[in-house]
Amino acid sequence: MSRPGGNAGLLSDRQVELIATRLAERVSGSAATRPTPKPANAAPRPAPVTAPTGARRDGLGDGIFATVDDAVDAAATAFRKLDGMSLEGRQNIIASIRESMFENAEELARLAHAETGLGRVEDKIVKNRLVTRKTSGTEVLVPHAVTGDSGLTLTEYAPYGVIGTITPTTNPTSTIICNTIAMVSAGNSIVFNVHPSARECSMANVRLLHHAITRAGGPANLVTAVATPTIESAQELMTHQGVRLLAVTGGSGVVRQAMTSGKRAICAGPGNPPVVVDATADLDYAARNIIAGASFDNNIVCVDEKEVIAVESVVDDLLKHMGQHGARVLNEQELHKVTNVIFSEYPGRRQRATLEKDLIGKNASEILARAGIASHGDPRLLVVRVTNGHPLIWTEQMMPVLPVTAVPDVDRAIELAKEAEHGFGHSSGMYSRDIDALSRMARTINTSIFTKNGPFFAGLGEGGEGHTSFTIASPTGEGLTGPVAFSRLRRCVMVDHFRIV
Ligand code: NAD
Repeated sequence: MSRPGGNAGLLSDRQVELIATRLAERVSGSAATRPTPKPANAAPRPAPVTAPTGARRDGLGDGIFATVDDAVDAAATAFRKLDGMSLEGRQNIIASIRESMFENAEELARLAHAETGLGRVEDKIVKNRLVTRKTSGTEVLVPHAVTGDSGLTLTEYAPYGVIGTITPTTNPTSTIICNTIAMVSAGNSIVFNVHPSARECSMANVRLLHHAITRAGGPANLVTAVATPTIESAQELMTHQGVRLLAVTGGSGVVRQAMTSGKRAICAGPGNPPVVVDATADLDYAARNIIAGASFDNNIVCVDEKEVIAVESVVDDLLKHMGQHGARVLNEQELHKVTNVIFSEYPGRRQRATLEKDLIGKNASEILARAGIASHGDPRLLVVRVTNGHPLIWTEQMMPVLPVTAVPDVDRAIELAKEAEHGFGHSSGMYSRDIDALSRMARTINTSIFTKNGPFFAGLGEGGEGHTSFTIASPTGEGLTGPVAFSRLRRCVMVDHFRIV
C-alpha cells in the first residue's frame, strides 16, 4: 500500500495490514464481529443466502472487476435481478447495508486515514456513521396521485439502471456508503471508479457492501468497482453505453468532464464556504461552533467553513473567543511562515493560490512544525486575521488554517461572502440574531446549503435536522442528493375511473 511519508499519527504498515485483514475476514465471514449497537432502522440480519467467497488472490471478485466493461456488464445483470425483486426485498438489502456499515465504520475510517493521509480518524468515524444512519432510503420514494373528473394519474419513481459513479479522496468511504444507500434504494446498480489515492479503503468498502447485499438475498455485483481506477477508466465509464446516469463528486475538472460526456450527469463540485459574523451574534457561541465546523476532518470536507467574514466592531472579540476555545491564533509573522509552506504558488490579491499538496488535510501541529513555529499540544485549528484580498480568503484550502477578515458592516460582509464563494453555490452560513440580515444573506448567496447559527456540518444533518448526503450537487442543482435524485419519474394514467369520491 502506498502511503505518503512523514505524516505523524498515521498507522504503521503493520497496523494497516491488520485492519485490512480483519475487514477481509469479516467479508469472508470467518471472524467474529464485535457486538455493536444497531442503527434504529436496521432489520434483523437475514440468514446468508450465498456463501461469501472472500477476496481472491488477484484482488478481483466480490464486486471488483479488472475492466470497466466487465464491471458494467455485471452491474447490468444485477440491476435486472434487483428490478425483479419486491420492494420489501430492496428494503432488506438497505437494512443489511446499514448494519454492516455501522459495524465497520471505525475500521473503514482507520483504513481511509492510513491510505490517504488526510483528516482525522475520529472525524472519519463520525462521517461514516452519519451517512449510515441518515442517508435516505426507499421511504422517500412516495408516489404522487392526482384524481379528478377524468380519472387518476399516478407518478412513481423508477430506477435508471447502471449508475457510473466517481468518488473523491477526501471522503472516500463515506461517499461510497452514502451513494450506495441512495442509489440502491432507488433500484439502481452501481459501478464505482474511485479516486486512485483511496483505492484500498474503497475496495474494502465495496467488498463489505457486496456481502451485505448478498447476505440479505440481493443480487451479486449490485455494487461494483474498477480494480485499478485511473482518470482514463473514469472517462471510459463516463461514455460507456451501458451506463444510464453519471454521479460525480470532486473538483472542477471531473465536473467539467462529466458535463461534456453527453450523458445525464449529477455533479457535486467544489466549494469555498464563507461564514459571516455580524454585530448581533453571540461571539462566544459563534467562536466555539466555527472552530468545531472548520476543523472537522482537518477542513477537507467540502461544506467545512473555509473563511470568516466578520464586521469590524466584533472581529477582535471573535478572535479572542476563538483563542479561548482552543484555536491557535497566529500573528502576522506566523501568517507569512504558514502561507510560505501551505501554498506552492502565491498569487496576488483576490486570487486563488496553489496548494502544497502534501499538507492538504494534515493536522495543524504538522503545519506549524513545517513552518518552523513552536506548537503546544495538538490544536485542532489555526486562525489568522488577514486582509480582504488575501489568497486564504479566495482559496478552497482544505487545511485547518482558517482566515478571518473584517469589513465595515453586514451588507459589505454578505457582498464579500458572495464574491469569495466564486458562484459555486455550494455552502455558506451566518451567525446573527438579526432575522432580516439572515434572510438577506440566504437569498443573496443562493447556496445549496445555508446554515444559520451553527457549524456547517449541521447542514449535513450532524447536529442539524434532515437527511444527509456526501454528494451535494450544486452545479447541476439537485443539492443534497438522495434516492429521488437517482430516480426517473414515470406517469401512469387511468382515464375516467378510480376517483372514488
Ligand atoms: P478530484 O477532483 O481530484 O477527484 C475526484 C474524482 O474525480 C477522483 O475519483 C478522480 O480520479 C476523478 N477525476 C479527477 N479529474 C478527472 C477527469 N478530468 N476526468 C475523470 N475523472 C477525474 O477531487 P478530490 O481531491 O478527490 O476531492 C476534493 C474536491 O472535491 C474538493 O474540491 C471538494 O470541494 C470536492 N468535493 C465536493 C463534494 C460535494 O458534495 N459537492 C464532496 C466531496 C468533495
